[in-house]
Amino acid sequence: MLRLPPFRVVSPDTVEGVVAALQQPGARLIAGGTDILPNLKHWLDRPEVLVSINRLTALRGIVRDDNAGVLRIGAGTTLTQIAEHPDVQQLFPSLAQSAGCVASPSIRNMGTIGGNLNLDTRCRYVNQTEFWRGAIGGGCIKSEGNVCHVVPKGRNCVAAMSSDNVPVLMSLQAVIVQAGPEGTRTVPLCDYYHADGTRHTHAKPGEITTEVQVPLPTSARRTHYVKWCVRKSIDFPLVSVALRFDLDKDDVSATISAAHVVAGVLGARPRQVRKLDAILGLALNDPKVAQIVSEAAFKQCKPLANVPYETAYRRRMIRVYTRRGIEAMVNAG
Ligand SMILES: Cc1cc2nc3c(=O)[nH]c(=O)nc-3n(C[C@H](O)[C@H](O)[C@H](O)COP(=O)(O)OP(=O)(O)OC[C@H]3O[C@@H](n4cnc5c(N)ncnc54)[C@H](O)[C@@H]3O)c2cc1C
Ligand code: SF4
Repeated sequence: MLRLPPFRVVSPDTVEGVVAALQQPGARLIAGGTDILPNLKHWLDRPEVLVSINRLTALRGIVRDDNAGVLRIGAGTTLTQIAEHPDVQQLFPSLAQSAGCVASPSIRNMGTIGGNLNLDTRCRYVNQTEFWRGAIGGGCIKSEGNVCHVVPKGRNCVAAMSSDNVPVLMSLQAVIVQAGPEGTRTVPLCDYYHADGTRHTHAKPGEITTEVQVPLPTSARRTHYVKWCVRKSIDFPLVSVALRFDLDKDDVSATISAAHVVAGVLGARPRQVRKLDAILGLALNDPKVAQIVSEAAFKQCKPLANVPYETAYRRRMIRVYTRRGIEAMVNAG
């Protein structure tokens, strides 16, 4: 049995109260607890106090705000609520897909979107028991040691951002609202992550995510999310790609006016696949589109040995799953 380290729990009922409680030394935020509690059982952190957001009912819910042109999703909204929400299913099918494929139904009922966006990075060498980490020479940069077992000569941690929803929300150009001691600010999700697995977000000390704002579509589009993992459920992705193509009209034979393709599970920051200009002006159902995009994803995405499975195989799976994702969009009409 894995034991938790000792800690206190406080549950303020306002955002200000949560932000104030986070000023205490050794305080950590907890939402659904589906990520942080397993990490604490592995003794990856020993917080003195967990600050729960469970009494912040204002952070739960999904509202379509036509005046602001966004869908507002409270950070405390569960993944099940997102996957099953009619506006999400109709306006952002790739988000309904990504929220609906996280882990298992019971984890999606507890896990929140705020926790998913702030999910700690993962690595096969650190998401282990303290005993296991000790057996490979006293841990690594992210835990108790000072070496990286993935890039032995590297000085940085390259643990993977394994959230299913982050690549999708980046492809949808979502913005998050952060509340902290200095007030509230908005941050484009594309600018929120950086390539350091020990501290991979630009959250300021004491800040919490309160809301995700997803811009409402202003043109016809097709979106899709593909995830490769070993099991069909209860598995983090080993390869993931979010696809979005803006179209001149609402038909798969319409021409592409913009493309947003984001791959996850590479390093600590998802990768936006660039150099897709060659598909602009082509019809989405032109076979060249799947070929060009999957080839660009293959060339630009180089998985590291931070999660299980051979890196060369995962890289090939990026190409395969990108192509399959585009074919699925086309076949769906
Ligand atoms: C067996 C298993 C399988 C899983 N599979 C997947 C998977 O396939 N895909 C996937 O994406 N995830 C997976 N997860 C991870 C996790 O369940 C989800 O990512 C979930 O959405 C996390 O949300 P939570 O509310 O439980 O976060 P918590 O565990 O409560 O918190 C996670 C982290 O986010 C921080 N945090 C929480 N809320 C906020 C906030 N509002 N503002 C700022 N920081 C915050 C916490 O401090 C903590 O560092 C899996 C977990 C388990 C145990
Ligand atoms: S990438 Fe390196 S430093 Fe980071 S968790 Fe893995 S082994 Fe540790």
